[in-house]
Amino acid sequence: DIPKQKHDYQSDVARLRKIVVNSLYSNRDVFLRELISNANDALEKLRLTALKEPEVLTGAEELNVTIKAFKDDDGSSRIIIRDTGIGMTPEELTINLGTLAKSGTSEFLARAENTDTTGTGNLIGAFGLGFYSSFLVADQVYVSSLAAKSSRNPEPVQYVFSSSADESSFEVYPDPHGNTLGRGTEITLVLKDDTQEYLDTHKLADLVNKHSSFSSQFPIYLFTQRTEQVPDEEAVEEVQAAEESKTEVDEDEVVVEDTTEIDENEAKEPKMKDVVVDEWIHLNSQPPIWIRDPKTVTDEEYELFYQATFKDFDKPLAWHHFSGDTGSGVSFRAIIYIPSRLDESYWNNPLVSSSKDLRLMVKRTFITSDLGEDALPKWANWVKVIVDAEDLPLNVSREQLQSTKFLKQIRQILLRHILQMLTRVMEEDSEKFEEVQKVYGNVFKLGAVEDKRNRDKLVALTRFYTNQKNSTSLDEYLANKKQGQNQIFYLADMGKKPEFLAKSVFIEKLDARGYEVLLLGDPLDEIFVQNLRVWKKVQFQDVAKAGLKFGDEDPEEEKEEIEVMTEKFRPLLDWLKGQAEDVVREVVISNRLVSSSCAVVADMFGYTANIERMMSSTAN
Ligand code: ADP
Ligand code: MG
Repeated sequence: DIPKQKHDYQSDVARLRKIVVNSLYSNRDVFLRELISNANDALEKLRLTALKEPEVLTGAEELNVTIKAFKDDDGSSRIIIRDTGIGMTPEELTINLGTLAKSGTSEFLARAENTDTTGTGNLIGAFGLGFYSSFLVADQVYVSSLAAKSSRNPEPVQYVFSSSADESSFEVYPDPHGNTLGRGTEITLVLKDDTQEYLDTHKLADLVNKHSSFSSQFPIYLFTQRTEQVPDEEAVEEVQAAEESKTEVDEDEVVVEDTTEIDENEAKEPKMKDVVVDEWIHLNSQPPIWIRDPKTVTDEEYELFYQATFKDFDKPLAWHHFSGDTGSGVSFRAIIYIPSRLDESYWNNPLVSSSKDLRLMVKRTFITSDLGEDALPKWANWVKVIVDAEDLPLNVSREQLQSTKFLKQIRQILLRHILQMLTRVMEEDSEKFEEVQKVYGNVFKLGAVEDKRNRDKLVALTRFYTNQKNSTSLDEYLANKKQGQNQIFYLADMGKKPEFLAKSVFIEKLDARGYEVLLLGDPLDEIFVQNLRVWKKVQFQDVAKAGLKFGDEDPEEEKEEIEVMTEKFRPLLDWLKGQAEDVVREVVISNRLVSSSCAVVADMFGYTANIERMMSSTAN
């Protein structure tokens, strides 16, 4: 007897398994997607390791996933999912399957425990739970694994991880059958009484087609048995024997027509019998969706592909699927997705750029998602992209890639397409564009500051609150300009709500006269206008600063009136200035106000109140 090492699950795992097992029936399907996704990850790891260490390929030739469902001799129903991937050592079996290493899972736990059961169900449906989802359908799970042979592990031994759904412990022990796998991992699920439906190969094939066909680069085979009709040899022999004797008997008789016909029929349809034929059918024989003609890919396929590939709970806001040529002779296909939200950490490091989700493939094979320095600029690094290049060598490494022109060119092409795609949403789908604005509005402003080359297109995507509208583009603002107006008016006050800014004394008069004023409450807004300075030859003007020019007044008349008033109120002005000597440079009569009696205004060339506030906070 082989000693079985018994381990207790980490407390988090126990918690998680409980949530999984108690979750909604309607989401049990996800187990298959999760196990196939793990098999695919293991195959991908093997392939990448093999580039440097070909030895790991020994043991099993083909890189694939196989699925077999059957009734065992002992009466239990089983599904076996096997891959020829990197495999796991006994230590890895213990750590990877017995502890919660996975960040996504901890996130899930946090969310699951804060939602009701329906919410949990949806979460599982949308994201899945990796290996533990096995327990949605299985009472007992065996994972048998033979790690790849390598210099670190020259003589791998096949081990089994075994656990039942209701125990708080698992066991790891050498496989009593020996090293049967060649290489890789085999997961045996002993189905629960109420999950017998998964014995049905049609059901399994449907699930794979729906959820996994596009996410696996490696062939997935499903074991099926079909009955076929073959000539029944024994029966044929009997008939022949009978016919022979018949011919003998009938030799001298006249053959009547009827009999001839019957004879002919018998010759055409020999006796058949049913036989059961075993067959492995290749499920994901269709090319991956980025290779397909966009016209043949449904929205649902694009969404499912996105969710599976980029492990996102939510559906993407939009996508763009295209093919092209880098100009240096590399043809490629790409899909760009706009996620429905920004990573929470996006604004933490405003200048750091690293696109984690730019998946680069060569001839359908994954190469890297880490393009380092060559990643997209900050304003665009949140897109999720698949790029598949046709004409690069398959064993190209990231370092080699960086020395080719390819990455630089593809970067420019992607940026151009991202902008085209956003511009198209803006022009064609205002509802969607509103959603895009909510999530990425500030990103476009950052982009306009950061990326001089694409500035105009990015500025066109920006939107602002005004005293008249919830949202305006700068072009709309200019179109709405009053006659004679030759400045773009804005009021900036960091952190203030537009409704608050709308009541500011600085825009009283502009408002009364029907001028539109941009209300900038976000720190990025002010950085944006100060960087841009001019749009379509019209200058930005801070209405809280001197230098404001109205377009529709008679300057001479007003000037005279101001002069007259200034003379009249000279004693008051002098007295006020004397009182506030330390804080103001000048006290003047102004025509800027309508109902307020006075305002403190920044110098034309001085800092705005906003920036002063920033300066004094840094000084402290
Ligand atoms: P995730 O796949 O997100 O890491 P899972 O719960 O699905 O989380 O799997 C946990 C870990 O177990 C994987 O990260 C991997 O290291 C290991 N694993 C699971 N299935 C396999 C497999 N078929 N081959 C090799 N390793 C596997
Ligand atoms: Mg997984």
